[in-house]
Amino acid sequence: MDRRPVAAHRKPHAWAAALAFSTLTGAGLVLALAFAWTPTRPALVIALALTLLSILSLIAAWRQDRDMARQLTARDAMLHAAFLSTPALTLSRDGLIQRMNGAAVALFGLPREAAMGRPFSDLTAEFDMDAVHQANDQAGQLEARRGYWTGRRADGSTFPLSLRFGLIPPTPGPGGSGVEHVALALTDLTRSHAAEAQARELHAQLNKVWRLNSLGEMAATLAHELNQPLSAATAYMHASQAEMLKAGPVAEPARPPLDLAKGQLLRAGKLIHRMRELLTIETSVLGRERVSSMIEDLAPILQMIGQDKKVEVRLDAEAEDDDVRADRIQFQQALVNLVRNAVEAAAERPDGAVVSVTGRVEGPVYRISVEDNGPGIAEADIERIFQPLTTTKSAGMGLGLSVTRTIVERHGGALSARRSPSLGGAAFAFALRRHEGGSR
Ligand code: ADP
Repeated sequence: MDRRPVAAHRKPHAWAAALAFSTLTGAGLVLALAFAWTPTRPALVIALALTLLSILSLIAAWRQDRDMARQLTARDAMLHAAFLSTPALTLSRDGLIQRMNGAAVALFGLPREAAMGRPFSDLTAEFDMDAVHQANDQAGQLEARRGYWTGRRADGSTFPLSLRFGLIPPTPGPGGSGVEHVALALTDLTRSHAAEAQARELHAQLNKVWRLNSLGEMAATLAHELNQPLSAATAYMHASQAEMLKAGPVAEPARPPLDLAKGQLLRAGKLIHRMRELLTIETSVLGRERVSSMIEDLAPILQMIGQDKKVEVRLDAEAEDDDVRADRIQFQQALVNLVRNAVEAAAERPDGAVVSVTGRVEGPVYRISVEDNGPGIAEADIERIFQPLTTTKSAGMGLGLSVTRTIVERHGGALSARRSPSLGGAAFAFALRRHEGGSR
């Protein structure tokens, strides 16, 4: 992009027009005088033509001037707005504050007079003019050792800060001053840091919940799978005991170990059921939650999952009448599982991979769907993929969909899979009954 100031674009034309105007006017005058001296028809025509041309060039010069003035005014307004809204200050070569705008004064919460002439390092810990000199450029970001600078307010509180700098060229001429050496634009990172911390916290919570959920699912699967052989073994033991009773005293010595073995089988069954109970996905306390808010909180994590695989994740959840009864963290866990699967499927495309999360009010329910433009799922595999420990991924555990289905069912919904009508890949969807009484 051409970054030359507007005036630099326009000036040569304005000068050319003015020069043309004065030359033509001069020539017209000379000819008019010559005509007055010896009036001839051709001289009159030339004089008139030149006068007309000079008027036209004057109009052109005036219009260019007006355009340039408009552009300069717009640019000034833009710079003014940027300057007012962005905290900014200037420093001398040795790092003393020379000038500070209102936004910077407000940011540090100290009177302007108290800041003038003070080292900027008093307001920003670890700031050093070497950072500017080492930047080896005319303008750019000032890198801090920790990734951000720490601003210190007048009341002693601190906040994270990013700094952009621009070197001020020394003003030429005898009146020129080189005191203001560098201009700094400041960005308060408090909000973005808080949002990052919140996302990190949610991420850690989701990881913990995932570990418990997947263990619970494994326990449930194990209990289910072991139930049948354990019951069969117990039945065989019963049958053996009955046979021993019939055999009379000869079989008597074999009865105690058989009783013990039966006791152990029963114990194994109880242990498995206990483990299953302990690790069961706990969603008994469903609260009133807004789906759009649960998705909004999750947005940084979903975007991160997409970015990792270069997949665009689109979020579009209707925020009207979206109250449902839900366990916030379990709902988020279910959505993360579906989006992660969709991202992994869509990432197989060479380009234009997309995952779309949509939330819509549909009469008494709120429907959430996660669609992708990956390869989709063959009709014959649709039921199979929900079974625990079923995976087509080399590092997959095959628990994501079964955990998600359990969560959705505990919320009173049903998880379905089909081909996405809009994106062509897979579409997973479930609906939750809306909370009566609409949004809060
Ligand atoms: P995992 O992700 O560990 O494989 P899941 O239970 O989440 O376990 O998924 C089971 C299988 O379902 C996956 O291995 C994959 O074959 C299939 N699957 C899940 N989601 C999608 C999707 N969006 N597109 C295509 N296949 C999918």
